[in-house]
Amino acid sequence: MSECIFCKILNKEIQSEIVYEDELVCAFKDINPTAPVHILIVPKTHIENLNDVQQHHKELIGHVFVVAKELAKKFEIDEKGYRIVVNCGADGGQTIDHLHFHLLGGRKFSWPAG
Ligand code: 5GP
Ligand code: ZN
Repeated sequence: MSECIFCKILNKEIQSEIVYEDELVCAFKDINPTAPVHILIVPKTHIENLNDVQQHHKELIGHVFVVAKELAKKFEIDEKGYRIVVNCGADGGQTIDHLHFHLLGGRKFSWPAG
């Protein structure tokens, strides 16, 4: 059995507030939101991080972005704007070693990010 927290969420072994799910991805609310809308879009395959993304994942990764813009519309952040973040590795701020995409909105973000 996987020890990965996100695999456990995908397998429904850990409860989460799922807002979207299909055969390729699951999206749920971040447990510690840093914006009024903070959703994690998680591929159902366990890929550790962006370093492990391969050519055959191209359709999956493209799908993530289509889901992201649909969720942005659903949560009504599409018009004002939003941010999608992928943290990779320790310096990138990655804390869960299962590839995921943060969809953040509902407030204004600064750039460059700290
Ligand atoms: P990272 O820092 O790896 O890019 O992002 C991991 C995110 O997962 C963090 O924003 C953190 O709050 C969130 N997170 C960690 N554990 C859980 C959990 O058990 N449930 C949910 N819904 N989010 C989690
Ligand atoms: Zn996993």
